[in-house]
Amino acid sequence: MTMKLGFVGLGIMGRPMALNLRKAGHVLWVYGRRAATMKPLADAGAAMCSSPKDVAANADVVFICVSDTPDVEQVILGDDGLIHGVRPGSVVVDMSTISPAAARAFASELGKRGADMLDAPVSGGEVGAINATLSIMVGGQPDVFARVKPFFDAMGKNIVHVGDHGAGQVAKACNQVVAAVTIEAVAEALTFARRSGVDPAKVRAALLGGFAGSKILEAHGQRMLDNDFKPGFKVKLHQKDLKIVMDDARKLGLTLPCAALVAQHLNALMDSGDGDLDSAAIVKVVERLSGTR
Ligand code: NAP
Repeated sequence: MTMKLGFVGLGIMGRPMALNLRKAGHVLWVYGRRAATMKPLADAGAAMCSSPKDVAANADVVFICVSDTPDVEQVILGDDGLIHGVRPGSVVVDMSTISPAAARAFASELGKRGADMLDAPVSGGEVGAINATLSIMVGGQPDVFARVKPFFDAMGKNIVHVGDHGAGQVAKACNQVVAAVTIEAVAEALTFARRSGVDPAKVRAALLGGFAGSKILEAHGQRMLDNDFKPGFKVKLHQKDLKIVMDDARKLGLTLPCAALVAQHLNALMDSGDGDLDSAAIVKVVERLSGTR
């Protein structure tokens, strides 16, 4: 069955994800807030739209990958939002990382128009988006998930239907706790090695083969060694994700001390004007606190 697809939000993640849908042969309508972001998609044969509403009027399934909860709200419910273009049976798939409660609220609003929604945030970074190897964690109705699954297959490898609306965003919040605390741990370990007079590159190489090995030690550890903080995943986005975690933890009456500490370190990076660096820059805070940098 041929489905007409749409994509809104063509940044570091959205652009390669949308390109992979085109590479898989799907007909695609796109919208980027800055027209220049649509050019690579237009070159690949996608049709450019003037608004999210325009995308929804043309497509059966519309994917979103924008920054934060208010951005998704604007894309779905704004004056030119998707909600004004959807038809009964349309599906909106939000792949941004946002608050689980907001994901449930957007699903409810779209439901009033007869449209379905999935929250489907991703993990795997820009490399995963380019190589179509993302982990995709999905919340929503199982039958809607089954309809969209072939398109997820064009963008990712580990695709899990986690539960009802919002469950994908809860899984992503969990992912961000593990990622943030692990980046902090790698930053502390490499700083400890350097200050002990031991080559941190050799320490990273030694640790990669044992229980301390991880994708974060491999990728973020290398960025810390190279002092290369070109994003990747921006500090301001990781700060946004830990704010989602800490807000929900407060509502749930949970104590998450490690996540809270890393959230403070991300705040410090924002304060020093480093919000657009890769979140591996957490090492800069650890080094500053230790008088190393
Ligand atoms: P990004 O490079 O900053 O791109 C965000 C895109 O969203 C930009 O093209 C931006 O448009 C667009 N946008 C933002 N607000 C908008 C609005 N109100 N209306 C229309 N377009 C809007 O960010 P990214 O790294 O691709 O991240 C996108 C989402 O994926 C975020 O929720 C992030 O947390 C999540 N994520 C990122 C990574 C990663 O490694 N980067 C990994 C997993 C998940 P402009 O170009 O006009 O600013």
